[in-house]
Amino acid sequence: MTNNHVYDMVIIGGGPGGYTAALYAVRAGLDTVLLEKFSAGGQMALTDQIDNYPGFENGIDGFTLAEKMKQGAERFGAKTKYAEVKRVDLNASPKVIETSEGVFYGRTVVFSTGANPRELGLAEEKELVGKGVAYCASCDGMFYRGKTVVVVGGGNTAAEDALLLSRLAKKVILVHRRDSLRATKVYHEPLMKAENVEFRWNSVVTGLLHEDKVTGVKLKDVQTGEETVVECDGVFVSIGRKPATELVKDQLTLDQGGYVAADESTRTNIPGVYAVGDVRTKVLRQVVTAVADGAMAVYYAEEYLAEQKI
Ligand code: NAP
Repeated sequence: MTNNHVYDMVIIGGGPGGYTAALYAVRAGLDTVLLEKFSAGGQMALTDQIDNYPGFENGIDGFTLAEKMKQGAERFGAKTKYAEVKRVDLNASPKVIETSEGVFYGRTVVFSTGANPRELGLAEEKELVGKGVAYCASCDGMFYRGKTVVVVGGGNTAAEDALLLSRLAKKVILVHRRDSLRATKVYHEPLMKAENVEFRWNSVVTGLLHEDKVTGVKLKDVQTGEETVVECDGVFVSIGRKPATELVKDQLTLDQGGYVAADESTRTNIPGVYAVGDVRTKVLRQVVTAVADGAMAVYYAEEYLAEQKI
């Protein structure tokens, strides 16, 4: 199906940044469509408790917040099309977005595809997903009630995951390649106090042991080279995320980490194309910074569209 309609704005990705762009765009009278592969929220929808997004005095789960953002944008006429984007031509005029549900055309494009969990790159890691290897403690933690789990990483995600799992699992072993956490101080004390959390500092996971499911991990001490085996029922890989830029990597300028190079204005190297949320270069990847990006993108898109009419 090909739809020759040209939208003022096509938004790719329905996380908090994408839906905020949709809200601001429709309120500004822009003819807007948001393309989303599965359901609203992106990575946010996988978070069981969000306490650092203002306005929710008891916190809120990410799935509900995502639905609220979607409905808030729809109240003003935003449209969501469930489609997988296959290819884009951002230099064309209008810009072309080929999807599983046909071709969309936009005068401007907001790119808000987010970032996905980073993998360890171990042999059989992919095959063991769902069989002991997991990337989301709030999604899969409940399967490890009363069991022993390894959490890999030392940032905020690993700290948060280890704390969450310490409330479910019998034992949590946090494996980090340095001798201290990189995570924000707020996590240090509760983690150190948790009686069922152990730390394996200066260590990396070098292999997964398994029968049909994970039974343990091989660890290597990065200072001494000593190798050990730790028995466990699950491994949570919590080592950060990689930006979803495959679609645009040959068209948009990326930074060294592979994120779309764009400053607070969200403008990319291509006029009329904006990168918002976790996919763009930024210091703090949070819901609150993603929604700010969404608003900024529309501000600059309106300016761009006005210039095109002159
Ligand atoms: P991160 O801050 O980039 O930390 C990744 C951690 O994984 C680092 O400790 C890193 O080790 C380790 N690591 C990376 N690759 C590895 C590998 N191949 N093998 C072993 N270890 C590896 O990622 P994040 O914790 O996911 O956080 C991402 C962003 O989200 C941050 O901006 C964070 O503040 C934010 N976040 C915020 C919250 C919150 O505020 N509640 C919660 C979660 C995430 P090194 O230290 O050696 O580099």
